[in-house]
Amino acid sequence: MLNKIQPRRMRDKIQKTKIETPSTRFLNFALPTIGDEECEEVIRTLRGGWLTYGPKTKLFEERFSNYIGVQNSIAVNSATSGLHLALLALGIGPGDEVIVPVITFCSTANVVVHMGARPVFCDVSDDLNIDVSKIRELITDKTKAIIPVHFAGQACDMDEIGQIAKEYDLKVIEDAAHAVGSAYRNRKIGTISDITVFSFYPTKNMTAAEGGMVTTQDNRLAEKIRILSMHGISKDAYKRYQADGSWYYEVLYPGYKYNMTDIQAAIGIHQLRKLPDFIEKRQYYVGLYNESFRFIPEIIFPMVHPDRYHTWHLYVIGLEIDSLKITRGEFINLLKEENIGSSVHFIPLHFHPYYRKTFGYKIGDFPKAEWFYERIVSLPLYPKLTESDIYYIIFAVRKIIESARNG
Ligand SMILES: *Cc1c(COP(=O)(O)O)cnc(C)c1O
Repeated sequence: MLNKIQPRRMRDKIQKTKIETPSTRFLNFALPTIGDEECEEVIRTLRGGWLTYGPKTKLFEERFSNYIGVQNSIAVNSATSGLHLALLALGIGPGDEVIVPVITFCSTANVVVHMGARPVFCDVSDDLNIDVSKIRELITDKTKAIIPVHFAGQACDMDEIGQIAKEYDLKVIEDAAHAVGSAYRNRKIGTISDITVFSFYPTKNMTAAEGGMVTTQDNRLAEKIRILSMHGISKDAYKRYQADGSWYYEVLYPGYKYNMTDIQAAIGIHQLRKLPDFIEKRQYYVGLYNESFRFIPEIIFPMVHPDRYHTWHLYVIGLEIDSLKITRGEFINLLKEENIGSSVHFIPLHFHPYYRKTFGYKIGDFPKAEWFYERIVSLPLYPKLTESDIYYIIFAVRKIIESARNG
């Protein structure tokens, strides 16, 4: 399922391709791929007059459900909002503990704090996903949920996480911000756990400018999340402004204002249609990177599990810094001098002052995450890049490493 590219064909291609140096152009670390369809749909939506949550968002939700193969999709204004709503709907509250991987974006943990609960960090394994062998030792009688993060678009070990959740009666909320379209053992992400949350932030595999989608097979949870996303107002509140709607509504919870707008959905509908092509292009570029880096011993490859459909939101390599004269930070600066943007995913959460001060974490608590943090770099990977851009990056990486070799 993963890379259908023949290695030999790729090697020939690498040797034959003429590299055009984008010396006058900075290769951004990440950019969205927006076409005429998205632009025209946004304009049509603006001219149509219905701007906020309405028919287009409903259509986007319906198509998303079909794509994932899930009962319910609720469109929200960000994945962060979606994670917050998921915790609310599952009744996580003050005094509770929620297990999250220590390598993730801060919002995975922040939403737990918003509930008055405590984020309990778990170290990662070599695939940079949560280390499932370390979850059990973190469980206390206060533990209520686990939020696995499908790092870079590769699913976590969901069978093991499901098993642990069953044993200890925990809820599972999947942070699938990187993983729209990903699958675990032929099960699409979004269909497996209690609740799954996707992101449409511009750097993600598909975008709606900003936005997120919450999926669940549980109709009652879905209804609750939908209501909570719109002030806690009873079902289909937006209908009250339409001819067939009624002025009457009821507030069932002190909800939030987290709904998506039709302008965002206008973008999302077309991005979803293009997503399979976007993913294929990412996979193809990963094949080029992997094939070309095979002979550079200082590069640690991203670990890939054969039983998962990897959608490659990020291409994260590690640098064998012990055999190099430069640090990871210096490597990033040298790439920048070659007009290439790169990034680090992520600064482990226990490095941030807030979590250290509030929860008493310290350097040394998560050895694997810290080992990776010194070494990881995310290289540009998105469909808007050309093949020649990828080769340019490959050659720059090779050049930097070769001139930084020890001895
Ligand atoms: C981007 C990201 C989020 C937040 O997504 P938003 O839609 O920007 O709120 C959450 N978790 C992870 C792992 C992310 O990468």
